[in-house]
This record gives sequence, C-alpha cells and structure tokens, in this order.
Amino acid sequence: MKKYLFLLKIIVISIFFLSCAQTYDPLTGKKVFTLLPPEKEIKIGKMYVPLAIEKNYGRYPDKEVQQYVTEVGEKIAKVVPRKLDYKFYVVNTGAVNAFALPGGFIFVNRGLLLVLNKEDELAGVLAHELGHVNARHHARFLEKMYGLSILYNIAAIFAYQTKYADILLQFGKIGAQLLSLKWSRDQEREADILGVKFAYEAGYDPRGLLDTFKIFEKLGKVEAPEWMLTHPLPKTRYEYVKELISKYNLNKPLIVDTPKFHYIKKKLEKTKKSYDLFDEAVKELTKKPPNKERALELLNRSIKLYPKNNASLTARALIYADMEKFYLSAKDAEKAALLDDLYFSPHFIAGYSLFKLKDYQKSIRYLERAKDLIPSFPDTYYYLGRDYEALGDYQKAVEYYRKALKLSDGRRGWERDAIRRLKKLEYR
Ligand SMILES: [Zn+2]
Repeated sequence: MKKYLFLLKIIVISIFFLSCAQTYDPLTGKKVFTLLPPEKEIKIGKMYVPLAIEKNYGRYPDKEVQQYVTEVGEKIAKVVPRKLDYKFYVVNTGAVNAFALPGGFIFVNRGLLLVLNKEDELAGVLAHELGHVNARHHARFLEKMYGLSILYNIAAIFAYQTKYADILLQFGKIGAQLLSLKWSRDQEREADILGVKFAYEAGYDPRGLLDTFKIFEKLGKVEAPEWMLTHPLPKTRYEYVKELISKYNLNKPLIVDTPKFHYIKKKLEKTKKSYDLFDEAVKELTKKPPNKERALELLNRSIKLYPKNNASLTARALIYADMEKFYLSAKDAEKAALLDDLYFSPHFIAGYSLFKLKDYQKSIRYLERAKDLIPSFPDTYYYLGRDYEALGDYQKAVEYYRKALKLSDGRRGWERDAIRRLKKLEYR
C-alpha cells in the first residue's frame, strides 16, 4: 500500500499547448483575454480525470447509480451558459464531498449520496459545482498560479523531448492542487449565486442547497465533511443563500424529490457495509507495519458482501501481488479493471502480475492502458520494457527503459536492473 500512497503523489500530465487567446466570459458575454482558452481547459481537466478516480478508489461500479447522477447533472447543465460536454462521475470514497475539475468534469462521492435525503439536495450541490465551472474558477486558478513561464515550459515539451520527464514532475504539483482546491469566500458566494439560479432554472427547488448546508453543519459537529474544508461554510453563508432564494418565485411547481433518488440511495445503502470493511482494511494497510493478514480478512468479507466492489478487489489484488500470489492478484485486478476502465491501479496491478506470470502479451495490454491513464508513473514503463524485452522487441524495450529511468526518483528499486538491461541491449 505504501507503494500506492507514493503512487498517488505522482501526477498525470500529458502534452498540451497553452496560448493566449480571446474568449467570451460565459456569464457576461463580454470579450475577455485569457491565457487558458476553453479547449485547453477541457484538455487539462480531462487529463486529471483518471487521477481523481485513482485518488477516490475507482468509480462506484453500478451503472444505474452513475446514470442517475448524470441525468440530474445534465438536467442542470442544460440551463448553464457555458456549453461544455459535462461529465458526471460517482466515485467510491465514503468522504462527504463533491468536486469539479476544469472543463466540466464533476465528481460526487458515494459518501455524499448517502447523507442526502432528497433529490433537490443533490441538485443543489451539483448546481453549485457547475457554478464554479461556469465562473471559470479552476481556469482562473491555473492562470494565476501558473504564469507564462510554465506555459513556455509546456510549449517546450514538444521542442525538447528530453525535458519531458522534468515537466511531468513539475506538473505533478498542479494535479495535487486541482484535487484539493480551496475556494475563497468570494468564489463560494459566486458559485452559490449561480448554483441557486441554475437549480431553479432547471426546475428544482433551490432550497435543496440550504438543506444540504444543514446536513453538513450537523455532520460537522462530529467530523467536518470534506466538502466544508474545500467550500467554507460560515454561518453568514446560510443566511445569505436564504435571502438570495427568497427573491425567486417559489410558488411555481418545483422538483423537491423523486422516487428514483430513494431507489438509488437504497442501492448505495445495501453496499455500505462492504465499503466500511474496505475502509477498515485500508486502515490496517496504512499502519506501521501494515497488518496484511487482517486487511485480507476484511477484504474477503467486503467482497463476499458486494462482489463488484472494485475498490476492495483492487486492494486485495495489491496484497496478493505483495505475497507473490500472482495468479490471484491478476484475477482480482482484471475483474476490477473490467468494472472501471478509467481506474489506473487495477490496470497496473494486472499488467504487473501478468508479467510475473510470463503472459507478456496480455501484460502489455494492461500496462499500455495504465500508461495512458496516468502517464507519469515510472514503474509502468519499466515493466513494459521487461515485457517487450521478453518478446524480443528490443527497440521498444530500450525506449521504455529510458522513459522509466527518466521518470524515476531513483528509489523505485528496479533502476539498477533497468540500467544494466539498457546497456546490454544498446551494445547488441
Ligand atoms: Zn464551492
């Protein structure tokens, strides 16, 4: 697990250009100059989607649940001024949170859905997140934090391939920051104003957002929900939003709740115990030293309760791989990868295990996918090199060993072997 905690610090970046461009403020319709034109903002956001999924232990493996949140989200997205291809994801984490990436990628945690009581509350949170995206808060953050020097560096990625890895590492910072962006009070206010407007125009009772505030406040008395850490919720905000809502005509028919919401929530409640056991297993694995036997026991129970629990399958695959039971680790990892094609860890573990089982062709398929999902993780390149070398494709092996070494921090454990193999292959 330690290896994976380390993994999470390594961030996805791919190659893209940034340039100054003219664009229109979606809220005012006025022409504005921006360093980050919309198509680049979308590219950046999309690049970080697998990382956000990785950090939250995969997507919730139930298509009906994903579909439901997408439907509610799209209903609101229809009325917003920024016309983007909005995407909605439910992720496995139990923490009470929702967040957005630049470019219209909205994430809702399993834990958030579990504490909500009706559909207008979900709509309130989604509309608020859409508020941040429509006010271009993420884009403004990137513009402010990463000025021209970084933009020039990115442009240089194309000119100087050798610097590729340096820039990947430099950009690691951005991913970490994007995933824990803390909004200012002004930004929260702006997102609230927009969120209330969007929810109302989509036909929802905007008081749903107020009800979520109440839920968060109550939860905060025990442990502050993650959402409150990133979206500050002072007392004045509740009063402010309440006053804001009072200006709307609330006598017209508005959606407060639907039977579908409760059907979906019941589904989530049924799998809650399985995820609680997963959380316990993670605790055992992060102990010093980790208690793997205990974690394995908890994960076995978790998977028995919910065989599709891809978070637990992935964690169990990791333990099996660590115990060198590669047949078992490949089996669990392949199952988890099939359940979420955007989840990096099961793809990497499947590829690694299949390499150990000498199934090189199949290993390559998983590792290539893992590489596309999080291209900055050096181990993926090393094992791809090993696969290609075993298959006799020495040119590709050399290419991958080189990349692995460039991306490595020197503490991965395979560096000396990679250097030795590289020398041997180069002298052929
Ligand atoms: Zn917010």
